[in-house]
Parts: sequence; structure tokens; C-alpha cells
Amino acid sequence: MRIDIVTLFPAMVEPFIATSMLGRARTRGLVDIRVVNLRDYATGKHRVTDDYQFGGGGGMVLKPEPIAAAVEALRTETSRVILMDPRGRTFSQAVAAELAGETHLILVAGRYEGVDERVSELIADERVSIGDYVLTGGELPALVVTDAVARLLPGVLASGSTEEESHTTGLLEYPQYTRPPEFRGWTVPEILLGGNHAAIARWRRKEALRRTRDRRPDLLARADLSALDRTLLAEIEEQDGEQEAAQ
Ligand code: SAH
Repeated sequence: MRIDIVTLFPAMVEPFIATSMLGRARTRGLVDIRVVNLRDYATGKHRVTDDYQFGGGGGMVLKPEPIAAAVEALRTETSRVILMDPRGRTFSQAVAAELAGETHLILVAGRYEGVDERVSELIADERVSIGDYVLTGGELPALVVTDAVARLLPGVLASGSTEEESHTTGLLEYPQYTRPPEFRGWTVPEILLGGNHAAIARWRRKEALRRTRDRRPDLLARADLSALDRTLLAEIEEQDGEQEAAQ
């Protein structure tokens, strides 16, 4: 897979890639990530990439021609061109999984007050937002998408480590522990120290259900629950009842 990030600030983007798992994946040839300087596609003596907004209002807007030139230089028949945009489709684990199935992503980072509307309509295939808040540029959003997508590609992480994670199964992940077995009086649950894999799997599923119920009831309401899940949830309710009675 190849991911191109088109930005006015390559120096912001490249170090993150170079020093993260993304850099390792790139060196190992698992994903080809390139940072493309938008200014290289601007013309004229001053290589201008932004201009005043028609209709007034403060702030600059990215011009369409340099972005069109950059995308057209990079694009192939199988490319998917995504404009980072707070007005786009909200990014999620499901969207990351969908994008991980593509062969070439071109992520365009906006800046200033935004990007000329014709880029959105004529150049980009779609718009993606990383959440309902506004940042100063599309660099962090492009890196968020790149990171979430790349870690799903085969070989980037140790095998199996993305399968049970938060948001992949529709539930939040179970609690994880490492050494020491006791920290500030809090001991690691006994069951995790034994080698009973079936019991551990059951415990993990139950704790994932408990966390999701407590912290993200909206996710639990949408989750596809098995008969075992319902049994585990009933056990959790029962334990809660016993705890309340004891208090
Ligand atoms: N005036 C615009 C915001 C511009 S922010 C508006 O109100 O919609 C400048 C650039 O940062 C945007 O063009 C976009 O590329 C990027 N950006 C900011 N917040 C973002 C978000 N939540 N998701 C994706 N991109 C974002």
C-alpha cells in the first residue's frame, strides 16, 4: 500500500513518521509513505499556495491549482483522494479498516481558513474529519489516518494484536497488566497469572463487557452480543447487586 500526504509543512509530518512504527514499516517495505510538499506544485516566482477569501472574512484559503497539480501528479487509476476536512465523514476504526483495503491513498492537508471548495468537489473523492473539533491544519488528521490505517496492514504489528482491540470488536478492550504483580497494593487478577487460557478468555470478555457498559453504554447498545455475552452481563449485574447489598 502507498500513502501520500500532501502538505505545506512536510517538516511537521516527516519526523513523526520517521520516529514511529510507521517508519519501521516503511523501512521494511510494508507500506510506502511519502510526504509531498505542496509548494513544489505552486507556480510563479513566489510559489503562492493561498489567497484571500472572496466575499470577505479574515484569513487565507488554499488555492485550488497547486493541490490539483500535486494530486494529478500522484494519482493513478486506483488512488483514493481524501481531503482532511472537519466537515467530512467522521473517522473511526471501521473507516480505518475500509481504507486499509485500498492500494493508494492521497491525503490532502488543509491550512489557514481551509481549502477552496472546488478542491473538495473536483479533486477529492471524499472528505474525512477526525472528530468534531477544529485544528489549525490537516497534518495531524492525515497522520492520525495514516497511523490507524498502517497498523492494520499485514506485518506492521505482531500478528493478532489488532484483533481484540477497542473499537475492533465493538467493545472496549479488557484491562491489561504487566509486571510487577503488585503495585501500590493493587494486585494483578489471579486468573491472569495461571495458564488456564479458556478461563482467561472468559474473564477478558467479561471485563470488556463491564468496561463498555460502564464507560461507553452507547457502544454496548450497538454491539453484536452472543449468548455467552448475555450470560456474562447477567453475572456482572448480579455481582453489582451483591456489592450494593454488602454496602
Ligand atoms: N474553516 C474551516 C476549518 C479550517 S481548519 C471550517 O470551519 O470548517 C484548517 C484545515 O485543518 C482544514 O482545511 C483541514 O484540512 C484541517 N482540519 C482541521 N480540523 C480538522 C478535523 N477535525 N478533521 C480533519 N481535518 C481538520
